[in-house]
Amino acid sequence: MAAGILDGKNLAYIIKEEIRAEVVAWQLRGHTPKLAVVLLGEDPASQAYVAAKQKVCREIGMACDVYFLADSGDKDSLQTDLLALIQRLNADGTVGGILVEMPLPVGINKALVLSSLDPDKDVDGMSPINRGRILSGEQGLVPATPMSCLELLVRSGVRLAGKHVVVVGRGETVGKPLVYMLLRHNPTVTICHSFTRDLGEVTRLGDVVITAVGKPGLLRGDMVKSGAVVVDAGTTPTPDGLRGDAVFDEVAEVASLISPVPGGVGALTTVLLLRNVLFGMQRRFGS
Ligand code: NAP
Repeated sequence: MAAGILDGKNLAYIIKEEIRAEVVAWQLRGHTPKLAVVLLGEDPASQAYVAAKQKVCREIGMACDVYFLADSGDKDSLQTDLLALIQRLNADGTVGGILVEMPLPVGINKALVLSSLDPDKDVDGMSPINRGRILSGEQGLVPATPMSCLELLVRSGVRLAGKHVVVVGRGETVGKPLVYMLLRHNPTVTICHSFTRDLGEVTRLGDVVITAVGKPGLLRGDMVKSGAVVVDAGTTPTPDGLRGDAVFDEVAEVASLISPVPGGVGALTTVLLLRNVLFGMQRRFGS
């Protein structure tokens, strides 16, 4: 293997320490940073994600309140209860950030839920106002997964200005916001998707290739130019464990740096989501 590793686990540890120090600074100013997590229904995967967030909150000294709304099957009343809870959390000065666990149960209006969140408490960065801020280049809360891709690159000293970055995938959670977040760093950005005719022909042009698709084996060694940097945001559960989009061993022979799956992008997302609680507090209370 020739490539160096973009180590998300190690970076998560460093960022956790930074957040812990900021949490203490906020406490000294009389504000205890707190995340409110809202969970609808009883999806076991979502419950596991919530438990993982609670654990990291404990590690960094951030308070975390979890609100469970049972899904009795009456979607209208579930949605009414959810919107009322969000309104309450928006108005609660002790709540720094709100996370509504996705996916929402079928029948709940996701667009309505996202637009009801106070944009400065929207730690997922998915509300329409935060989406608009990403497009316009204004400061706002940004989604954690594209931010993880950027942090891995920037903190590893990869300079993006003037480089050609190829993003594979234009999904709402990763690829699309990532494109606009990258543009702030002045690379040339090319976006590929399922209609791209010859994916390898495009990815071979990339000084940096970022994949966010969810198809293991999509990015092969011969689709990457020698010395390129590869960030793999894809995560697909398989019987052999979590897999990224890149064929790791092949791509690592050609690339200069590569993020593994697991241990790359995904290792950073929870800490960056929690960092958004602090960004939101800065926007509301001043830094
Ligand atoms: P998504 O909304 O399903 O988007 C997938 C994108 O991949 C679409 O734009 C699709 O193109 C494109 N695509 C599909 N087949 C392709 C192909 N053969 N060649 C090129 N592009 C192709 O997914 P997402 O929510 O953005 O998530 C993307 C990946 O990131 C998934 O693996 C997901 O699990 C992972 N993820 C990871 C984290 C983390 O914490 N690490 C967090 C969130 C998501 P079209 O637009 O043309 O359909």
